[in-house]
Amino acid sequence: MDDTKRTELEELGEFGLIERISNNFSNKQPSTILGIGDDAAIIDTGDAYMVISTDLLTEGIHFDLAYFPLKHLGYKAVAVNVSDIAAMNAIPTQITVSIAVSNRFSLQAIDEFYAGVKAACAHYAIDLVGGDTSSSAAGVFVSVTAIGTVAKDLVTRRSGAKNKDIICATGDLGGAYMGMQVLAREKQVFMANPDMQPQLEAYEYVVGRQLKPEARMDIIHELRELNIVPTSMIDISDGLASELLHLSRQSGLGMRVFEEQLPIDNQTYESAVEFKLDPVTCVLNGGEDYELLFTIGQQDYEKLKKHADIHFIGYVEKEDDRPGLVTKSGNWVPLQAQGWSHFKQ
Ligand code: ADP
Ligand code: MG
Repeated sequence: MDDTKRTELEELGEFGLIERISNNFSNKQPSTILGIGDDAAIIDTGDAYMVISTDLLTEGIHFDLAYFPLKHLGYKAVAVNVSDIAAMNAIPTQITVSIAVSNRFSLQAIDEFYAGVKAACAHYAIDLVGGDTSSSAAGVFVSVTAIGTVAKDLVTRRSGAKNKDIICATGDLGGAYMGMQVLAREKQVFMANPDMQPQLEAYEYVVGRQLKPEARMDIIHELRELNIVPTSMIDISDGLASELLHLSRQSGLGMRVFEEQLPIDNQTYESAVEFKLDPVTCVLNGGEDYELLFTIGQQDYEKLKKHADIHFIGYVEKEDDRPGLVTKSGNWVPLQAQGWSHFKQ
């Protein structure tokens, strides 16, 4: 890349930019087991591993305060970080929360936000142990760092998938994206005519997926009880296609998933059709569902096959290292990640 001329960030994309930053640094501490590039970093603390992950939520990019209640924002900011800890097969223990707000914010608004943080701390059994508070010239910024712990032999990276492993996805996908579409539409209607009340009853599930995501710690605990350690894992924050590409690239293997196995809720499907969107595209590229995508060895299939909330969507293969989707009509199409924040707003 020519450094003498201005380069637009769009040319690199989010992942290209992260790669460029990470290529410029190398780890010196023996306790740094895994640095940039997974859902969380892995630090050796002696007996166990500590995992640590940070996310930044920006007003206007990740949320719109016109339809995002502050209490939900507080909860979601914690949940999305806990989700990254879950993706390492770890148990969250502490968080720090940093906020920057402008003077259009009241004390009551901050209280609402922290009521959400508190509810999440109670739900995930974690402690708020620090943070930072600042003013902002424009917009709200929320940054959460989550810390977790995991036995050394249980930690799960993105890079561990093996040939012929089964690819599993929890819950259902595409709902959070459709929830955002509904909320954005109701906001437009409201702005055009403030007397109109939002019509959300028929979209309760998808709107809930957007406003109240839950990290799948329940699945992590269940896998432990069943003595299953996924071979690789990632949480589904950017969309299934993007996450499959990460697992594939970092494991150095192909991934084949089947359209007819993709989990989609009825309401997600119906609302996608209503919005003239392809439901499969919503599942593949919607993002923000915070479900888990993981691979298991075939020997573990028996133990999971009756699980109501774990779906077997495909398998890992070494014959073709490109991730692809087999459509209902039997065609193979390569999976593509969306560009920079393509679906986020
Ligand atoms: P996730 O979606 O799981 O939160 P990201 O795609 O945000 O993961 O980040 C991927 C990896 O890149 C993580 O290891 C993260 O810590 C790292 N990362 C992201 N942004 C930066 C940055 N500005 N500087 C250093 N590391 C970064
Ligand atoms: Mg993640």
